[in-house]
Amino acid sequence: MSNKLFSSGESLRPEDHATLSNSFSHSEDSSALASQEILDKPRSNCAIVGVYAHPQAAKLVYSSLYALQHRGQESSGIVSSDGQNLHRHVGMGLVTNVFSDAAIFEKLPGMLAIGHNRYSTTGSTVLQNAQPFVVNAKHGLIAVSHNGNFINSRMLRKKLEDEGSIFQTTSDTEVILHLMAKSPAANIVGRIKDAFRQLKGAYSLVMSTRSKLIALRDPRGWRPLNLGRKGDTWLIASETCAFDLLDAQYEREVDPGEIIVIDKNGLRSEFLDEKAERAACIFEFVYFSRPDSKIFNENVDRARRRLGKNLANENPVAADMVISVPDSSNTAALGYARNSGIKFEIGLIRNHYIGRTFIHPDQSGRDLNVRIKFNPVKGVLNGRRIVLVEDSIVRGTTLKHLVRMLRKAGAKEVHVRVSSPPITSPCYYGMDFPTKRELIAANMSVEEIKNFIDADSLEYLSIDGLLKSVPHEKGGYCTACFTGKYPIPPEEVMLKHAHDASK
Ligand code: SF4
Repeated sequence: MSNKLFSSGESLRPEDHATLSNSFSHSEDSSALASQEILDKPRSNCAIVGVYAHPQAAKLVYSSLYALQHRGQESSGIVSSDGQNLHRHVGMGLVTNVFSDAAIFEKLPGMLAIGHNRYSTTGSTVLQNAQPFVVNAKHGLIAVSHNGNFINSRMLRKKLEDEGSIFQTTSDTEVILHLMAKSPAANIVGRIKDAFRQLKGAYSLVMSTRSKLIALRDPRGWRPLNLGRKGDTWLIASETCAFDLLDAQYEREVDPGEIIVIDKNGLRSEFLDEKAERAACIFEFVYFSRPDSKIFNENVDRARRRLGKNLANENPVAADMVISVPDSSNTAALGYARNSGIKFEIGLIRNHYIGRTFIHPDQSGRDLNVRIKFNPVKGVLNGRRIVLVEDSIVRGTTLKHLVRMLRKAGAKEVHVRVSSPPITSPCYYGMDFPTKRELIAANMSVEEIKNFIDADSLEYLSIDGLLKSVPHEKGGYCTACFTGKYPIPPEEVMLKHAHDASK
């Protein structure tokens, strides 16, 4: 095959066919990642961004990636196009560490750029897998940033390897590039359609050629992807909080199955051949997305407040105050307080500035980790009956420590209310969940979990309450982690999962 995947940080010209020398940046600062581990939450895997028609496109991509840091903290990268060559800089760590030197942007010239923040679900955590990828295919240079998970990439990778393709990374994204390179189609949209006729799963992508910005979303619309505009500049981003930072306007979401191409002729839209029922990830509203973003054509804040309101309607309790597990449960807690008529207070303070240094493997270490992460406001809690609102429970370990912390701070009663249903099944569509064995609600009843975390009471939002909290005008949702009803049959995804785990 003619295409060559570039794994470097230098300019890539159409005539380049050799792997260039490395100029990656590397950072040991993984504090955001460490904090998620301590929080015992599933992890979102990626943020993707694209900018077209701006003299400082790479800087706009950088700002957008910064706003989307919560969607991936293992690596970050930008590819820019000056119309002739593509220029790439990627590194391990947070956006600010990877792009810590302003001089980096002098090496990312051009009016077009795409970017990526990564947290891996497929492929190992190595610099080699940092995106965007750039390949010099027979049809020209192309860069790709991908968010999601393909369920049949193992089979396709094997088929491609049997036919002579040589893979340089363990990432699913490379499979896309190989499939496109093999397509006989005359133009890039045709090659995309050919590739995605074969690929199945959850994906949102941005791609760049030397002159085109392309955005693509899977036919079920699993992962969010949005179109924005600032004057003549077009923007694509996983969440709209990226547009706010740039003072840009939200135009609309990229529709499920839509391919948007932006070039000197303007914006045009086509659709993939596959048609499917929408299966937007409902967990984006529960936890993954920022409350100041708009996703799936709805403000996350509004949906999250409704989660809290419906939780209060379904599960009232006599108490003196409502507090949240900050920060992700703040909005749902406000909704709960609103509908219960119980006042909202700040009862826990979260420290955002911890690092990996503080992770200890033993149980007392985890207790210490939770204390480093959260501190109770004793004057608020002492002698009070507390409703503690949490957005989701995965293993229950952090919550157990938090309840103990609140009691030690003088809370008379601790009633835990969860603004989503029990998580009983893993996610195979691009979110990093523990196995079923580790999911507490897959192994214990609500009463047993209440006893495990030592709460006075524990109640979850129902599936009905969850679905009532989100808009339905645009179609349905994936609720598989709560219901076990997988939009794509679990046998296929489990096969894929087993393969990834063995890598
Ligand atoms: S299984 Fe859960 S986390 Fe995964 S896509 Fe479906 S709703 Fe989202």
